[in-house]
Amino acid sequence: MWMGGGVAAEDRLNRGQFRTVGRRLLADSREHRRQMVGAGAFVLLAVVCTLAGPLVIRAGIDHGIEPGNGRALNTAVIGYVGLIGLSYLVGRRQFVYVNRAGEGVLRDLRVRVFDRMMSQSMAFFDEQKAGVLVARMSADIESMAEIVQWGLLQFMAASLLVVLALVVLAVLSPVLTLVVLAVFPALIIGSIRFQRQANDAYLAVRERVGLVLASIQEALAGVRVIQAHARQREQTRRFNAANAALYEAHRHSTVISTWYFGLVEFCGVLATALTVGIGGWMVHAGHLSLGTVTAFVLLLASLFEPVQMLSQMYNSLQSAGASLHKLYAIIDRPPEVAESPGAVDLPAEGAIEIAQVAFRYATGSRSALTGVSLRVEPRQRVALVGPTGAGKSTLAKIVARMYDPTEGRVSFGGVDLRHATLDSLRRRIAVVPQEGFLFSGTIRDNVRLARPSATDAEVEAAMVAIGAGDYFAGFDAGLDTEVRERGSRLSAGERQLVSLARAALVDPAVLVLDEATSNLDPGTEAAVEAAMERLMTGRTVIVVAHRLSTVRRADAIAVVDGAALVEYGTHDELVALPGGRYRALADAWTRSQPVLTGE
Ligand code: ATP
Repeated sequence: MWMGGGVAAEDRLNRGQFRTVGRRLLADSREHRRQMVGAGAFVLLAVVCTLAGPLVIRAGIDHGIEPGNGRALNTAVIGYVGLIGLSYLVGRRQFVYVNRAGEGVLRDLRVRVFDRMMSQSMAFFDEQKAGVLVARMSADIESMAEIVQWGLLQFMAASLLVVLALVVLAVLSPVLTLVVLAVFPALIIGSIRFQRQANDAYLAVRERVGLVLASIQEALAGVRVIQAHARQREQTRRFNAANAALYEAHRHSTVISTWYFGLVEFCGVLATALTVGIGGWMVHAGHLSLGTVTAFVLLLASLFEPVQMLSQMYNSLQSAGASLHKLYAIIDRPPEVAESPGAVDLPAEGAIEIAQVAFRYATGSRSALTGVSLRVEPRQRVALVGPTGAGKSTLAKIVARMYDPTEGRVSFGGVDLRHATLDSLRRRIAVVPQEGFLFSGTIRDNVRLARPSATDAEVEAAMVAIGAGDYFAGFDAGLDTEVRERGSRLSAGERQLVSLARAALVDPAVLVLDEATSNLDPGTEAAVEAAMERLMTGRTVIVVAHRLSTVRRADAIAVVDGAALVEYGTHDELVALPGGRYRALADAWTRSQPVLTGE
């Protein structure tokens, strides 16, 4: 049974906030104003048609039937049929306008929220879990959809109908209107109670739907483990429990709807009975015409149905307001890493200077880096090594300005990265992450991601530059092979080749590499190592190294431990340090561990 929407107490907007988001939505919908005005006009017309019907019948009875005037009766009948036809046409046009305006508003909103999410900095994604962001784009937009497509209009139409119906009734007979209003206190108290109960019931259903879905997802993801341990029955029992809870929540919401709809119906019947009884008596006394009492009875429907609709819509409106508020919070959030006013392009060449850098993740409980200073000369290769969780990747991310340091600064060629144009930053400093992500599309599209304007020949040249010119030739369609979503068709090593080719396409002065920790099959490993070597040649490189081979090829080694830079020097210098951290790491490696840091 339809319960409208619902909103948790902590998400409920106060009246001021509600008005603000409403006004803003209206301002943002400017582009669709024509459709909205059209929709509004048709709503008004539909309301007028609904109210005019009983008045035409009144005229038919009082001027046609009562005095036995055939012409007046015929005119009333034709008028009534005409009104029904008009109502039908108005209803159809209304539907078209409302849908166009509603869909347009939603489409714009989706694009704006998505665009804003994409331009956020890493800190935003640390804070917001992916699931929550997906919910913003799906559940919150959906809750808006109900209102924007239909609800708002119905709400307007129902409000207008109630007010105008009361005005028409009062004009027809103030005394009879007062009689009808006698049932309103019960109706209003019932409606308020219904809103509260329906809101809670809606939230309960939503929560339990979530639990049922979670139970299905978990069971499907873990089906191998479930079958391997013969836990099917246990799993079904758990699912049954979640499913039974959902059934119970639905049943409860039906009970709520039933008593409320019953109440509205009873109030309607009571008002009709009072109208017929008292109105009939007034007809006898000559105070009212028969037509007026009939019109009164018919108009009561225009009063009670909208009241019921309004109290159902109220919760949906609240929930849409809360969703819109959350969506605007994303739209309004400026990215942390943004281009500063008067930003300058980074020079083509220069040293990287990390000066007294400290950093703490907004979501982290302690500093990930403290007082780190390091200078990397042009074309120098520095390997960052250290135990897991030491802060190596964090330092690499700060050099690539994925985050700004909390204290200190990072500069390239003397320009603080915070004052550099974002475009020159991405051209001068390229990042190769540990796990390259592949998007659906061809291998070529995936390489081109780094520089969308690159020609086919440039993409191929980038492949050749990393020595992988022929690597994908063996695939069905070479570089035009589809990688499918998430790169399921490419091996880990092949995905890395694509990541390295992306960096080669940018042709940066500085390369920030986070070396993969996973072991690759020997054939691909050789190709990846060779590609890395070729990419690093002639560039300034900061590499988070996990292999001793990579470390040995570096000009200098920086050991990061406990969020600080603890040792710096060449391999030979550092192994000569008695009790040194690097020495211990290198020792561990010589005890035949292929990976330098323990992951
Ligand atoms: P590894 O070799 O395992 O990648 P690492 O030396 O690169 O380790 P970092 O990834 O830089 O270590 O992490 C440094 C510290 O910061 C760790 O304590 C880690 O838990 C924390 N950290 C890393 N990323 C985040 C994040 N996005 N939000 C909060 N804390 C983080």
